[in-house]
Amino acid sequence: MTQTLSSSRISGFHKHSVSERIALLSKIMQLDATDSDLLANCGNLSQEVGNHMIENFVGTMTIPVGIATNMRIDGKDVLVPMATEESSVVAAVCNAARQAYDNGGFITSMSGAEMIAQIQLVNVTDPTHARLCILEKKEEIRAICDACDPLLIKLGGGFRDLEVRVIETKSGPMVITHLIVDTRDAMGANAVNTMAEKLAPSIAQWTGGKTYLRILSNLADRRLARARCIWRTEDIGGEAVRDGMIMAYHFAESDPYRAATHNKGIMNGVSAVVLATGNDTRAVEAGAHAYASRNGRYSSLTSWEVTPEGDLAGVIEMPMAVGLVGGATKLHPMARAALKILNIASASELAQVIAAVGLAQNFSAMKALATTGIQKGHMTLHSHNIAMMAGAVGKEVDQLAKILVAKGGVRIDIAEKELALLRGE
Ligand code: NAD
Repeated sequence: MTQTLSSSRISGFHKHSVSERIALLSKIMQLDATDSDLLANCGNLSQEVGNHMIENFVGTMTIPVGIATNMRIDGKDVLVPMATEESSVVAAVCNAARQAYDNGGFITSMSGAEMIAQIQLVNVTDPTHARLCILEKKEEIRAICDACDPLLIKLGGGFRDLEVRVIETKSGPMVITHLIVDTRDAMGANAVNTMAEKLAPSIAQWTGGKTYLRILSNLADRRLARARCIWRTEDIGGEAVRDGMIMAYHFAESDPYRAATHNKGIMNGVSAVVLATGNDTRAVEAGAHAYASRNGRYSSLTSWEVTPEGDLAGVIEMPMAVGLVGGATKLHPMARAALKILNIASASELAQVIAAVGLAQNFSAMKALATTGIQKGHMTLHSHNIAMMAGAVGKEVDQLAKILVAKGGVRIDIAEKELALLRGE
């Protein structure tokens, strides 16, 4: 047990060096040397970089990175780094990709690289009139936005279009301006937020209203990544498997309770690549779930059908605001290594790979659920975690994991007993 905390007010915590913060934290919470050594060991991120990335930095949380093999995307083989703590995620992608490989793998595309920034305007008695006043200023708005980011313009990005909507709210009507900006190889949050903040005073001036929020929308529906794939029925175990999977999809399509878990499985794959490449997992997750609700009811991010030949066709389409520059992508050495492994040239390519991984993940989860159930594979992989939690080390981990699977009891209490037996205790 650590010390009960008397107060969380630690004046000037942010002003200390990392080692001072660790020492202070260790003293306050009476952490032992093992804990403070853990905090001081930053793994593949230097203390200096970490300390610049977030506030009150005291350490890192290392997450395993695995490589998804067998992925063939748009006629090219790709190795995909995935950062995840969940045991079956990498294996699921490898398995789905293996079953698709001989039939050509995944075909992907992208709707564009445009992000949306929103500006909220209130206190206008004539919102419909104000809307047109803003729309008429499109070229002035373009100039203001493009002047914010000369580098982005040089790279072929910048302001593309304008949308203005009037929405009814509990605070009365609001005029919401959307700036549509091509952010090229950047995720673009900072880029478009800067534009929205710069433009807001002009909008207030043109309309006589008051602007409040000025920030991007994570519902990046002008940046949709798409992937499709056909699994031959003979490669996936026959018609009964295919039909079970189609019904699993229909279940998710019709029932939000199922759709949440169906999409969580997709995000197991998606978020793992987003994280491995130093991108913003929360931005992609927010976009995914908002997009899944776009028709008024939360539903599946994938669609599954039977082709005229009787094979299984899967499709995914979802917002994918990821970048090769910005955020942690260039700062985190592991993210840079992940991008090297992927060997891709643009943010669109990365987004498309991620969509293919999401589809592969969904294939494996649905197949397992519609056949043997998810626990068999999951618990086989999880048995190693349980073995380690019970105290197994070195060769004992594999030995104990095998015993647990054979006994059909992947549980910590059984693992502790079996470990004692294994050690002849
Ligand atoms: P950024 O500002 O660090 O980088 C983008 C800039 O890099 C561009 O504006 C451009 O000037 C430059 N650039 C250089 N090479 C480029 C290229 N090839 N293509 C495009 N731009 C290039 O980052 P960002 O992408 O604007 O923002 C991403 C960060 O914003 C992430 O860390 C994210 O977590 C954070 N964020 C997210 C949210 C949200 O999702 N709601 C809100 C605020 C901030």
